[in-house]
Amino acid sequence: MSIPTLEQLHALHPLQQPTYPDSAAVTAAVEKLRLAPPLVFAGECDDLKTKIAAVSRGEAFLLAGGDCAETFADVNADNVRNKLRVLLQMAVVLTYAASVPVVKIGRLAGQYAKPRSSDMETRDGQTLPAYRGDAVNGFEFTPESRIPDPQRLVDVYNASAATLNLVRAFVTGGFADLRQVHTWNNDFVRESPYAQRYELVAGEIERALTFMKAIGADPDEFHRVDFHSSHEALLLDYEHAMTRIDSRTELPYNVSAHMVWIGERTRQLDGAHVEYFRHIRNPIGVKLGPTATADDALSLAAKLNPENEPGRLTFITRFGAARVRDGLAPLVEKVTAEGVEVAWISDPMHGNTFETSTGYKTRRFDDVLDEIQGFFDVHRSLGTVPGGMMVEMTGDDVTECIGGGEEIDEHGLAHRYESVVDPRLNRVQSLELAFLVAEMLRQ
Ligand code: PEP
Ligand code: MN
Repeated sequence: MSIPTLEQLHALHPLQQPTYPDSAAVTAAVEKLRLAPPLVFAGECDDLKTKIAAVSRGEAFLLAGGDCAETFADVNADNVRNKLRVLLQMAVVLTYAASVPVVKIGRLAGQYAKPRSSDMETRDGQTLPAYRGDAVNGFEFTPESRIPDPQRLVDVYNASAATLNLVRAFVTGGFADLRQVHTWNNDFVRESPYAQRYELVAGEIERALTFMKAIGADPDEFHRVDFHSSHEALLLDYEHAMTRIDSRTELPYNVSAHMVWIGERTRQLDGAHVEYFRHIRNPIGVKLGPTATADDALSLAAKLNPENEPGRLTFITRFGAARVRDGLAPLVEKVTAEGVEVAWISDPMHGNTFETSTGYKTRRFDDVLDEIQGFFDVHRSLGTVPGGMMVEMTGDDVTECIGGGEEIDEHGLAHRYESVVDPRLNRVQSLELAFLVAEMLRQ
């Protein structure tokens, strides 16, 4: 089964692709990318697949997090470090609570392309092409900036390489030291208005670490962690150009990220994205929203994972807090009854977005939390495995989501709203979420 050519994929009319003014420039960018070194190795993708198989059995918990949309301007040490620090802090809390390894995945080093609900955007009477992520055009609302530019695909590669290089250095070079990460968590708990609630878990971790130190245990795992990259593989020009045949197995892998997923808007069974994804051997995800039926899920699984390989396929569900309990249960029930191998992950963000009267796209912290609780409830009532979660978050003190211990309200959003697409949990909200999900894991 050889991988379709880019022309064959385009003949399937992929949704959510930019309309480039100059097709020769697209070809030139694609040719350049085809020669670029891989960002990840196929063997690393296989390792992640094995870990996700453990997630689907309940022997590991998956934490994925990062921006809705990365930007080129934010490819700097501070931004990457802050995001990674919070993800590592969350992972320690979740590891302790789940008593199993946490598989850590960043929505980073490639998360630059966005599907949009409308092709055009109107502001103050002017209508221009919508911003589709830094991979496509500029955020600035001017006619020049909104023209899709294929050179940006090469820029995505370079930005992703720089980010991943930094991440790899951080997670092996002392930054991920468990005691250090726990010290940051202690600082967070001390400053929190909910200190008493979080102290319980933080205190238990403290005692566990002290015990390990007392007996002289100092395993390598205390000093380094595994971290994986992922993004929505939306732009087929880029993803196809970054697909290589692995010399060990002769099989195709997308070497731009360890894991890639299909978004809610591009998961049509006969669409170009599903056609591309069924050929690559990475672990893959598919977003499933409230319109997805159990039969949709089964057909996707049959097409994307015909061999029913464990760890290959993850369903990332995003129903919204109000619909998760009723909507998710029949899906999980039927997929499980059919013996389909899949890891179930909650995306508690995308079903809970709304716009404030002041024009900010936001989410309520309580809705995010409630969707995760609903996800756990559904799986527990069916005896299936709530495998993990994917959140949109940042390590910075932005004000994009409402609520949390800092009690950000609608008016507070204006203070520091920086996201170019969807609202992210800020540093404090992300850590609070980890402590609260820890309580759910221990229920
Ligand atoms: C996203 O993950 O940023 C996204 C666009 O999600 P979805 O495809 O679920 O809408
Ligand atoms: Mn998003």
